Amino acid sequence: VRLCVFDDWRLGVLTAAGGISDVTAFVDPAVAPRARMSELISTWTQVAPELAGHAAVDAGRPIADLVIRAPQPRPGKVIAAPVNYRSHQSEMGGDGGVYPGRSIGTIDTYAGFVKASSSVVGPDAAIELPFPGRRFDHEGELGVVIGRTATCVRRDHALGHVFGYVPLLDVTMRGDEDRSFRKSFDTFTPIGPAIVTADEVGDPGDLALELAVNGDTRQHARTSALIFDVPRLIELYSEAMTLEPGDVIATGTPDGVGPIEPGDVVALRIESLGELVMPVRRRGRRV
Ligand code: MN
Repeated sequence: VRLCVFDDWRLGVLTAAGGISDVTAFVDPAVAPRARMSELISTWTQVAPELAGHAAVDAGRPIADLVIRAPQPRPGKVIAAPVNYRSHQSEMGGDGGVYPGRSIGTIDTYAGFVKASSSVVGPDAAIELPFPGRRFDHEGELGVVIGRTATCVRRDHALGHVFGYVPLLDVTMRGDEDRSFRKSFDTFTPIGPAIVTADEVGDPGDLALELAVNGDTRQHARTSALIFDVPRLIELYSEAMTLEPGDVIATGTPDGVGPIEPGDVVALRIESLGELVMPVRRRGRRV
């Protein structure tokens, strides 16, 4: 099942005809609009059969007529994996690296960081760059959406706690500020266009990932090159903090990260998950 959020935070399922079937009625109407996806994920095993049946006999509305939002507008938290591909470690340090001359560790050293959930946006938005003169990079990543509460989960049970997967951009300002600051700005965690449920994806450890800026490929890798794979990330993070339905894990980026500027268009395609396309703009000044 491919789930999205559209218009005024209604829930949708991509239909066989290529439209979007409205399944908002499958969550309690008392739930706040932006919390509907978390609620749907929490109640998924009860509602999934009937929901799938509804979507199967509905052609759905044309996608072009709808505003496609982030498929999980407000996760409880976004946990992210720093330097989880060796190819990315290599490009960050060394003589020609992003941080020249510095010794760069891997996830073994840095473990993880949290991005503000308010940084999440969807295909209806744009990446907005503040602080003119600073460097901002794209990082294309596989996003994991948690389905069942996970506390101290062993890696061999970890995938049972996954709801689905989504293309995710971990937009980053380079510099010496803490990661959580440099990566938590409004619009710095685009996800979408849809969450694809785990049963449709199969092995998250062997998906092709490709990111292009203005049509030029910048990043191209497979998730088989992850240093900590998805089960190990869930084991690590769930030992530190309880992972709840709708929480998102950003699994890290391969080599090829590079600067983005206002006017660029970033496109991240992940095998089985579809393509997330985001324009880049200058963040407006406020009085
Ligand atoms: Mn990242």
